[in-house]
Amino acid sequence: MHDSLYFTDHHLQVRDMVRDFAQQVVKPSAPRYDHDSAFPWDNVRRMADLGLFGIPWPEELGGSGMDYLSYILVIHELAKVDASHAITVSAHTTLGTSPIVDFGTDEQKKRFVPLLAAGKVLGGFGLTEPGAGSDAGGTQTFAVDKGDHFVLNGSKIFITHAGVGEIFVVAARTDPAAKRTHGITAFIVTKDTTDLEQAKRVGVGHDASLPKCPGVLAAKKEDKLGWRASDTRELVFQDALVPKENVSRGCISRWRTWPRRSRPRNTWCTTPPGSSSTASRSSARRRWRSCTRLSWRCVPRPRPSSCTAVTGTPRTIRWSA
Ligand SMILES: Cc1cc2nc3c(=O)[nH]c(=O)nc-3n(C[C@H](O)[C@H](O)[C@H](O)COP(=O)(O)OP(=O)(O)OC[C@H]3O[C@@H](n4cnc5c(N)ncnc54)[C@H](O)[C@@H]3O)c2cc1C
Repeated sequence: MHDSLYFTDHHLQVRDMVRDFAQQVVKPSAPRYDHDSAFPWDNVRRMADLGLFGIPWPEELGGSGMDYLSYILVIHELAKVDASHAITVSAHTTLGTSPIVDFGTDEQKKRFVPLLAAGKVLGGFGLTEPGAGSDAGGTQTFAVDKGDHFVLNGSKIFITHAGVGEIFVVAARTDPAAKRTHGITAFIVTKDTTDLEQAKRVGVGHDASLPKCPGVLAAKKEDKLGWRASDTRELVFQDALVPKENVSRGCISRWRTWPRRSRPRNTWCTTPPGSSSTASRSSARRRWRSCTRLSWRCVPRPRPSSCTAVTGTPRTIRWSA
């Protein structure tokens, strides 16, 4: 099977750049991070400089404006060398940022996506609870409407970036009378990173100007068998105050399973409170389609003696091994 069947010059340029980075930077350092179960902050800084945290998002939101295949190539090349680095980019992008890009209001997109796409802060997604992993209908975390804000109580387990991250999309029950997958709403919650010193040292991972939600806390890091350099913890809500403008557009009225970009119809059903669902479902599908369209531009493929940042409009950020 020849590469050119699927890949353009631009895809190959992206692949070579990330392959080079993975081999020269990630490979030598990954065993130490894995052994120490340490989050790879220095490499995160380099990946942010290379534009790896915003590959599929539009340039006007601070992303690289590339297509989904480019994004998959990035994850693939990182995963070939170290799964923790790959999940750091993919959990941040697919789990943390895509719900805001796909379902956030314009205001939410403007406020959160540029920070995430630039890798200035890390994002995550909180669905799983002891009784709600594959089955989102088991969600027990609940949110009470207090007028201009919601109060969240409960916790999410196994959350990637729960410690190091600052922006999360989480699911909570807003209608106690609704059953199973109904009456669940998505909220954007914020907190400070647990690694403030490291974040300050490397210059990414913390944004002091981002308002944080009191009561959103990270618990102890999981001591895992694999993916040890990836930060996995419980994300706890103790009377957490979440402003109403952080409610994701419309209630997510039917959470069946994980949000998957490949199966939007079954996974995300956005229904603005009090409206009929059919129109909003089709507009959600339209948004999903427009998000995944091929939108990169082909650029000449240089031989990478060092890495060029990944972006639709090539920048000239370079790294030295
Ligand atoms: C390292 C790591 C990082 C994670 N990061 C996140 C994160 O960032 N955010 C987040 O929300 N979650 C995260 N998770 C949680 C993960 O998504 C869940 O573990 C996963 O969804 C499975 O849920 P569960 O553990 O409750 O297992 P269960 O849902 O109990 O499933 C257990 C087994 O039963 C099978 N099963 C379940 N239902 C059915 C069925 N109806 N029919 C047949 N078989 C079935 C499953 O396939 C599985 O083999 C993470 C987990 C790990 C290990």
